[in-house]
Amino acid sequence: MNYFFYLENYSIFFEKEGRFFVYNTYNGRWSDCLATTEVRTLFSPFLDGINYSVFLSDEIISACQLGPFIEAIRDGFSGDLLPAGESTLPPFLFPSLLDFKYEMRKLDKKERALGHEVYRNLKEVNLFLHPRIVPENGIFLPEQIFYSDEIVPIAEDWQQMYLPFLQILISSWKGVLHIWCKNMDEKMWNSLWETFAAVPALKVIHTGVESSLPSLNGLLDKYNFSYELYVTDHSDEKVLNEWFALHSQTNIELIFQWLISSEKEWEKAEEWMERKQTDAVRLLPIFKGENRSFFEKNIFVKENDLLFEIIKKKDIFARKKFNTNYFGKLYLFPDGKLYAHPADDSLGQIQGVSLPEMLYKELTEGKSWLLIRDQEPCVSCRYQWICPSPSDFERALDQPNLCHLKKQSEKHVI
Ligand code: SF4
Repeated sequence: MNYFFYLENYSIFFEKEGRFFVYNTYNGRWSDCLATTEVRTLFSPFLDGINYSVFLSDEIISACQLGPFIEAIRDGFSGDLLPAGESTLPPFLFPSLLDFKYEMRKLDKKERALGHEVYRNLKEVNLFLHPRIVPENGIFLPEQIFYSDEIVPIAEDWQQMYLPFLQILISSWKGVLHIWCKNMDEKMWNSLWETFAAVPALKVIHTGVESSLPSLNGLLDKYNFSYELYVTDHSDEKVLNEWFALHSQTNIELIFQWLISSEKEWEKAEEWMERKQTDAVRLLPIFKGENRSFFEKNIFVKENDLLFEIIKKKDIFARKKFNTNYFGKLYLFPDGKLYAHPADDSLGQIQGVSLPEMLYKELTEGKSWLLIRDQEPCVSCRYQWICPSPSDFERALDQPNLCHLKKQSEKHVI
């Protein structure tokens, strides 16, 4: 008997670890078979991105030992066999591919239209009122700003620096504006509310729990702002409770970002949440060097975590080209320097270069928006595009993978 064997175009076919894998982006089911030379020749239209259908006969299926693989594909609704009569035309199924280089070339010809396109899709702008602290490694911002007891000075001329930039955003932008300031007093609250009130974007003020409580009138007047309040193990619980009382009293949008570096701190945060009967708390793990085992136990990915989640085709495509944690985010410091990630090199000075040009540069040569899993051990792992994009945790721990599946030096066995 002869057949056409085809894969649904929501399935992804790829070769890793000496095997061919089919991943179904609708139901998360996996099928695999040994990647022998014969099977590679057979599936070359899949691999070359030409067509997701090939001709197979009973003899070929049995000679290449493809029976269990095809059964698993059919069982998982990832593809099927169709009888192939002499006059039957082979089915044509577009493989799951995205030719991003072609898209870039096309857009490039339109005089940097891509930068303008991204400008329209700019999701988040982070404005810092404190000078940038150059991190020793990729340690991420909440730790730099809020975890230490240090009083970080606020740049005096932040308004002068940011206002022209805000004018650009005010007219057309619909993303989220994050404003970061560690220690706030009443003057600072008023100053922030007044400066940013005209920005139509959603505005989030990030501050430490040690900031003075804003006036109730001010808060209620400015309810188009939301707030993220950073709490650490050494925060004063009395102050924290005062903030919670204010939150309960006003119904303002406030999230308590609790920075935790150990199980003990985790338990303390959960105990407080339980006592207050609130779910307005996010636990944010912090890497301090000596707490690596805490990360290995609680943050590192296990295979079950990856098998549990169903990853859509568009997310796989996105992860192949961009870092989905960083894409569309910018960071601006009071010296006027703009960053795609605060731990990387600056994109330039906002007064000197046009924003679309800077965005275009990041899109074509950048280290942040383009930071994907293209290094060992991820590059040879079957979960390369199933795993979330590299995050600040990878930067902080200075290694490309945070999982229990592969060590950095291991290349083969999962
Ligand atoms: S090696 Fe990389 S891609 Fe594979 S599971 Fe670990 S982090 Fe994910």
